[in-house]
Amino acid sequence: MLFDTTIFGPIKSRRLGVSLGINLLPQRGKICSFDCIYCECGLNADGREDTQLPSREQVRVALENKLKAYQQEGGVPIDTFTFAGNGEPTLHPAFKEIVLDTQKLRNQYFPEAKLSVLTNAWQLANPSVVEGLRQVDNAILKLDSAIADTLQKMNRPVSPHFSMDKLIEQLSGFQGKCIIQTMFLRGAGVDNTTETEIQAWLAAIKKIQPSLVQLYSINRKVPIEGIEHIGEEELKRIAQKVKQLGINTLVTP
Ligand code: SF4
Repeated sequence: MLFDTTIFGPIKSRRLGVSLGINLLPQRGKICSFDCIYCECGLNADGREDTQLPSREQVRVALENKLKAYQQEGGVPIDTFTFAGNGEPTLHPAFKEIVLDTQKLRNQYFPEAKLSVLTNAWQLANPSVVEGLRQVDNAILKLDSAIADTLQKMNRPVSPHFSMDKLIEQLSGFQGKCIIQTMFLRGAGVDNTTETEIQAWLAAIKKIQPSLVQLYSINRKVPIEGIEHIGEEELKRIAQKVKQLGINTLVTP
């Protein structure tokens, strides 16, 4: 499912509360540096009819208009402004500047709200992306496996230069000021819940030392058939192993 506006919601998010979405990608297309088998936006190949990114000014104006109207309607307070949407938000060339604009509007309209970014973290090699992410309260970075073959099958990175070791290095460079988000699933030739998978992933988590690890599974329609949801009890058992490293967890089955 694609979001057909630049600003969407607010929606009640399982992980973030009342979340106002900011989609820096096209309104009728998907652009991402990964092509995950579980992506709720669909596959990259199915979302190529629109490649037009909103400009920095268009995002700022759309957000301000939304916030003005929302306040006038007396909407419930927003808990977080969330950069998500039809693909990977950090691919927008003005990502950092848009984060700074959003901070100003947040301070003006809902100063208590947090800024959150959902990202696959591959663009952390770009210093401007890192600077933008350092400005937000919740930099939520994806790490679905620490076994290269599984990552390739699950996330299907677009770049031929993708390297799992480099990804984990980039995540570690965030020096703990990040949240790691991991999707657990079985099916389509992938199972990232085996003991071998969990041990490799825990070693990476130990190296990254995030402030929080969010564990979740699919709960909406996904583009590839035969993918199995992982239940709450199993996610909690994995979370328990993260807690033994002294790292907080959040399970949202
Ligand atoms: S990184 Fe996110 S947006 Fe990109 S394909 Fe994966 S789930 Fe979809």
